[in-house]
Amino acid sequence: MKTISIAIDGPSGAGKSTLAKSVSKTLGYLYVDTGAIYRTIGYAAFSKGVDPKDGEAAAALLPELEIGLHYGEDGLQHMTLNGADVTDQIRLPEISLYASAVSAHPAVRAHLLEMQRKLARENNVVMDGRDIGTCVLPEADVKVYLTASSLVRARRRYRELTEKGIACDLKEIEQDILDRDHRDMHREHSPLVQAEDAVYLDSSDMTLDQVVDAIGRLIDQKIDGQAGGRA
Ligand code: C5P
Repeated sequence: MKTISIAIDGPSGAGKSTLAKSVSKTLGYLYVDTGAIYRTIGYAAFSKGVDPKDGEAAAALLPELEIGLHYGEDGLQHMTLNGADVTDQIRLPEISLYASAVSAHPAVRAHLLEMQRKLARENNVVMDGRDIGTCVLPEADVKVYLTASSLVRARRRYRELTEKGIACDLKEIEQDILDRDHRDMHREHSPLVQAEDAVYLDSSDMTLDQVVDAIGRLIDQKIDGQAGGRA
């Protein structure tokens, strides 16, 4: 049976994962957070003292890594690295920059491509990332490019981190976001760009409910009548 894929791309903090989680819950699709997979490799480089900007060193690390993606009873995506659950560790702010640096290397991207495609072949998915609509799933049924201003994104990240009790600084977060945007958008391999056939949505002045409504309507139009469509 043909599976249905919804690709949500955009810069960090744009609200992709919140949107993707909500849409996947409504549709009963699998939510795949591809950033978490890159973060797991970033975390491996961090914990082994590997320079994430060194492409050869990052590539040499890959054969030693067993990366697992599992869904817990809570329905949430858990990441394992060589058998250990690293779901919480990969969210630390320093790992964001490691993930962004390792993800620029073609060997790292190639290593993860089949894992992502297999998930979409075997399941109806809502997959979020940077290159889902352009590279991983170019035939996705629905493509969304979700963005927001850097300040709005920094404020959202600040709130998330402080709610988890992690001390942080708004200005530093915004600078990290700008640095990551620059790196993700200007890298040679699979840079973050809007797919030609993606719907562009700037969520700076929208609430989550408004974003979910707008995308829900789009999905209804695009996949209405197809197997596994909206419940
Ligand atoms: O989405 P998240 O912010 O967790 O992703 C962490 C980093 O992983 C991003 O800054 C980006 O460099 C990289 N990434 C990527 N391609 C994806 C998903 C994430 O390069 N599909």
